[in-house]
Amino acid sequence: MRKVVIFSAPSGAGKSTIVRHLLQQDLGLAFSISATSRRPRGDEQDGKEYYFLSEAAFQEQVDRGAFLEWEEVYPGCRYGTLRSEVERIWAEGKSVLFDIDVIGGLNLKKIFGRQALAVFIEPPSVEILYERLVGRGTDTPEKIRERIDKANYEMGFAGRFDTIVINDQLEDALVDAEQKVRKFLAV
Ligand code: 5GP
Repeated sequence: MRKVVIFSAPSGAGKSTIVRHLLQQDLGLAFSISATSRRPRGDEQDGKEYYFLSEAAFQEQVDRGAFLEWEEVYPGCRYGTLRSEVERIWAEGKSVLFDIDVIGGLNLKKIFGRQALAVFIEPPSVEILYERLVGRGTDTPEKIRERIDKANYEMGFAGRFDTIVINDQLEDALVDAEQKVRKFLAV
């Protein structure tokens, strides 16, 4: 059976670190590169972390029906999962790994049903999340406020996922996430 693994979390919960770790293991996973209308941050490259599109180009893809799901994750910034990414990865004989926001994750879970494992990464607390976002140093205070408000809201959806990984100690979270994914892919 063709499979997908969905990782969702409030921003700053350490999801990207866990996703990167899983991609480095021999799990046969490949990352679904989303399209976004936000600008690249730091040393992000087009076609690696994201396909960076203008607002107009993003809308064109929406109109063409190119997305499985898309959302305005932050005011003025849209993100979407391209159907072509899933096809590309399955054609390689691999399983798809999604790094996606909470609502998007639940939407994908609905689409893929039993083919999907939906994992919620839970930060130990919203206070720690705040410290992590400040420590990352890539966002303005206003952007951090937005992300914290969203995190509080998103924590309420944890129970709708197939499983939860608590990212208190990163090492433990990596082991836990890897075990859960291995078990799912082996079935
Ligand atoms: P960032 O701007 O920090 O890279 O990502 C912001 C949020 O957008 C993260 O929670 C990320 O998982 C989410 N995201 C990335 N790609 C997609 C996508 O294709 N669809 C949705 N709904 N969210 C996405």
